[in-house]
Amino acid sequence: MSDTRTLRDREGLIFERSSAGRVGYQLPPLEVPQADPAATVPAGLLRGEIDGLPEVSEVDVMRHFTRLSKWNYSVDEGLYPLGSCTMKYNPRINEEVARLAGLAQLHPLQPEDQVQGALALMWQLEQALIAVTGMARVTLQPAAGAHGELTGMLMIRKALLARGERRRKVLIPDSAHGTNPASAVFAGFETVEIGSTPQGTLDLAAVARHLDGGDVAALMVTVPNTLGVFEPEIVKAAAMLHEKGAFLYMDGANLNAFVGIALPGKMGADALHINLHKTFSTPHGGGGPGAGPVAVSQTLAPYLPVPMVERVGEGYTLAYDRPGTIGKVRGFYGNFGMLVRALAYIRSLGRDGLKSMAEGAVLNANYLRKRLAADYHLQYDGPSLHEVVFDDSIQTAAGVKNIDIAKRLLDYGFHPPTMSFPLIVHGALMIEPTESEGIDELDAFVAAMKAIAREARETPDLVRGAPYSTPVQRLDEVRAARQPVLRWRRPGD
Ligand SMILES: *Cc1c(COP(=O)(O)O)cnc(C)c1O
Repeated sequence: MSDTRTLRDREGLIFERSSAGRVGYQLPPLEVPQADPAATVPAGLLRGEIDGLPEVSEVDVMRHFTRLSKWNYSVDEGLYPLGSCTMKYNPRINEEVARLAGLAQLHPLQPEDQVQGALALMWQLEQALIAVTGMARVTLQPAAGAHGELTGMLMIRKALLARGERRRKVLIPDSAHGTNPASAVFAGFETVEIGSTPQGTLDLAAVARHLDGGDVAALMVTVPNTLGVFEPEIVKAAAMLHEKGAFLYMDGANLNAFVGIALPGKMGADALHINLHKTFSTPHGGGGPGAGPVAVSQTLAPYLPVPMVERVGEGYTLAYDRPGTIGKVRGFYGNFGMLVRALAYIRSLGRDGLKSMAEGAVLNANYLRKRLAADYHLQYDGPSLHEVVFDDSIQTAAGVKNIDIAKRLLDYGFHPPTMSFPLIVHGALMIEPTESEGIDELDAFVAAMKAIAREARETPDLVRGAPYSTPVQRLDEVRAARQPVLRWRRPGD
């Protein structure tokens, strides 16, 4: 079925298209005398000739990128069940609105009286996020969820220092996303891992034990957690923390499961980041511009980054005069285009639409859970919300691991689920369909997963050798991680 060598040769031929002297674009002949760059540009800014760039025609370039784009897989093609990532469809109305010239062509240094519309938009988004979180204020500046975590933890640190306390520890459950401990450490804390209960939820007794030491700054906890399980004792946990002068940092990456239904503010959160590219449908991008606003309680509001958009009379202003602020965490006002898209999404759904969005996400995840429960093992089998974490323990009996299942899914035309996370589930397959999917797509995915479960029993070698239909077959994952090739090099370099 496959001949990787032949394929690689073919790739070599179609990937490298350069041909000396070929050009893609020609400028019209000069109608004015040619200027001498050395006479007009300061020497330090002048560069020499760039050589070694590909020399290609317009057709070559067009075909190259179009072909590459077809090798990709996207939410516009089908289900993208990457758990925790909430890969929902990005509605086109968001893009239309973000491209309006009055928004897209603004300059971040324009005077305030010229950008009242943009300020109003940021203000409205803040109000909408306050409404769906029940928190006091929101900064729109951070560029991603992880950046929001860092921002929140820096505010917690500053609030403690303002009380004259230098607490060192941050408690983090073992089901947490890896960015949580990373952000806590970046903000100058030490992390303490908290084990989970047999139900996969927060171990309150363990939290209490650590709180007795008096050195705990905060608990960072995801609600619902990364198993898709709601934390039933979150209100109690918040009260315990507050009683000991510690803060509750809530990871809001899973807000999609309960937006419009429950309020983190009411649960006792002091800080919460919101991944606009998850819950609010802005594109994830390839590590491109993102947005991870942070909502805070009244207690943390004085420490918010500057500037904040404030109302003055009928207009809006950018307020920098906030003595407690942690400063800026991002150039200008964050990634404005993402804020536009998120507000477009929120306004087009409205209050009821947001609620049914969350209900749809939970319904879809539970539909997949029910349909696949006979084929794949569930380590935590209590009720779950918007995602479900299976594992490969039924398949490993035949020597088929989660990576093999993921690779085989590519042959069936689906993006694989998140794998090997959360860490407390060995061989995890974490599936989050989101509310974007209709029953046909979910059924097609179920059929593929069932077929792979059958293959794992009957023809395990077939699954272990997958994928067969992709432009590149099984990669050497260790080498890819240890010696990544991150940029194009001239052949022979
Ligand atoms: C995605 C995610 C994050 C990090 O968010 P980014 O926007 O990717 O930086 C943190 N925690 C959880 C649970 C997540 O799913």
